[in-house]
Amino acid sequence: MSGSIFDKLDLERFSRQIGLLGASGQLKLASSTVAVVGLGGLGSLAAAYLAAAGVGRLILVDGDKVETSNLHRQVLYRTDDVGKYKAVVAAERLQAINPGVDVEPVPEVLDVNLALEIVREADVLVDGLDNWKGRLALDAAAWSLGKTLVHGAAERLYGQVTTIRRGESSCLACLSPTNVDAAGCTTILGPTVGVVASLQVLETLKVLANLGEPLYNKLLIVDLGRTAIEILPVKPPSCDICLGRLRNADWIKPFYRGSQL
Ligand SMILES: [Zn+2]
Repeated sequence: MSGSIFDKLDLERFSRQIGLLGASGQLKLASSTVAVVGLGGLGSLAAAYLAAAGVGRLILVDGDKVETSNLHRQVLYRTDDVGKYKAVVAAERLQAINPGVDVEPVPEVLDVNLALEIVREADVLVDGLDNWKGRLALDAAAWSLGKTLVHGAAERLYGQVTTIRRGESSCLACLSPTNVDAAGCTTILGPTVGVVASLQVLETLKVLANLGEPLYNKLLIVDLGRTAIEILPVKPPSCDICLGRLRNADWIKPFYRGSQL
């Protein structure tokens, strides 16, 4: 449901957060677009918090359908959603959480052209992906267009979060594993993704509302087995994406057309 910017500034709904964000911060959220790319454990929870917080427009990207094995951690979905597109179900749920948010489901698999299209539309991209190839495509698109990417990943009892923006940090490829095709670990507890998704939403709200200090050039690691948090420094821009040396790689070519690099 669409509404004017003033309809979105629902003072009662946001009364417990507006003291932190300020009216200007709340209005900034209402006029912002966030794309959540991947609607699994991280993305579905992040999207719910972002809708509840009053982000004006959410683009929800995921070509997958809900599976029974998702339900222990992807609490936006119900048992009778199994077999339905996550993006479509998530859009319905988010609209129910906050009817003032414009929600656009994109039930498609991410490819380079879709990544570029989404990055063009969004102010901030939330990485809810479960594979590095997709993350790096999103990273390259966000980097080339100067948009903020909030990365998160979780497996077993570990998680990591960092915030990427050209001019503020190194790119995500600087942190990627050597083998980006390697399958991730699929063993996870629900609350682990909850912790990481919550941190990603905090980063997004901080960037949009100019609050606190985003994790630029810092990699936050959580070890929830020990309930420990560490902040590691990220090396200065040094990879091929940061330095614009991947222009000839097929998968990255579209991102550099018309970019400012
Ligand atoms: Zn880099």
